Amino acid sequence: METILIDGKKLAAEIQADIKKQVQKCKRAPALAVVLVGDNPASLIYVRNKKKQAEAVGIHTPVFHLSPVMTTDALIAFIKELNENKQIDAVLVQMPLPAHIDADAVLEAVSPLKDADGLTTANLGRLFIGKPALNPCTPMACMALIKSVQKDIGGLNAVVVGRSRLVGKPVAQLLLDNDCTVTQAHSRTKNLADICKTADILIVAVGKAGLIKKSFVKEGAIVIDVGINRKEDGKIVGDVDFNQMQGIAKAITPVPGGVGPMTITMLLKNTLQIYLNTHRTE
Ligand code: NAD
Repeated sequence: METILIDGKKLAAEIQADIKKQVQKCKRAPALAVVLVGDNPASLIYVRNKKKQAEAVGIHTPVFHLSPVMTTDALIAFIKELNENKQIDAVLVQMPLPAHIDADAVLEAVSPLKDADGLTTANLGRLFIGKPALNPCTPMACMALIKSVQKDIGGLNAVVVGRSRLVGKPVAQLLLDNDCTVTQAHSRTKNLADICKTADILIVAVGKAGLIKKSFVKEGAIVIDVGINRKEDGKIVGDVDFNQMQGIAKAITPVPGGVGPMTITMLLKNTLQIYLNTHRTE
């Protein structure tokens, strides 16, 4: 069997072209406020990349680069101003925040109506009770990547490795909403290989290079690798041993070039969605 390479970059470009067309029809440019606290080098790169891609589709993206010594209260007050600002549609707080800041309290301060990352309790709660919600971007990215190779996934066995608020838990819920039979594995799971081997769809979001080997994967499985790991030589790899999957998996996402570009695209999609939610009647 020839394994399909799921090209996240290509799919992201197609979806972004569509978003750009929709943005051109908006009365004013949708605006995504990005809040960056401090100078974490990875965050600086992520924010630059998000701004570049957002502006390329016509989304206005002011970046508020705040002092690392800022208090939790001051940051929450700043976010509340953005919540009130009618020129700002969506708000994103770049993680991680400096250690002295209460990150949960800050995330929670974002208005659920402007929650571009879909990580507030309100939006996650709505996802879990089956109400329309702004969903987290990486889980949305995983679903779009899966659907690019197989539209109807009802009845398939899905295994999610990882149970974070950011990826594992919400993606398991989205799979359930798409009628998959879902198993969630995590750091305390016994016999991980046997469990993974039951998967028609395997999503791995752990952060351990090479965790998933050939012996973990059923022939014909769709494998989505969320992990990002930097090796000693600087090379970025996923959690799945990519080369070992050739000829076994039906399809696989590469790292880089799989989930990453699609995650940013889903952020742009959410921003446009928020704009349309409030400007529908214009
Ligand atoms: P996290 O650290 O919050 O969660 C990791 C999860 O892995 C935990 O739920 C833990 O139970 C599980 N785990 C740890 N060791 C395990 C093991 N040996 N076997 C099975 N499960 C194990 O991480 P996260 O925020 O969910 O991110 C996971 C990975 O995905 C990281 O590498 C992160 O960089 C990457 N990520 C990528 C994107 C993207 O856009 N591509 C977005 C978010 C996260």
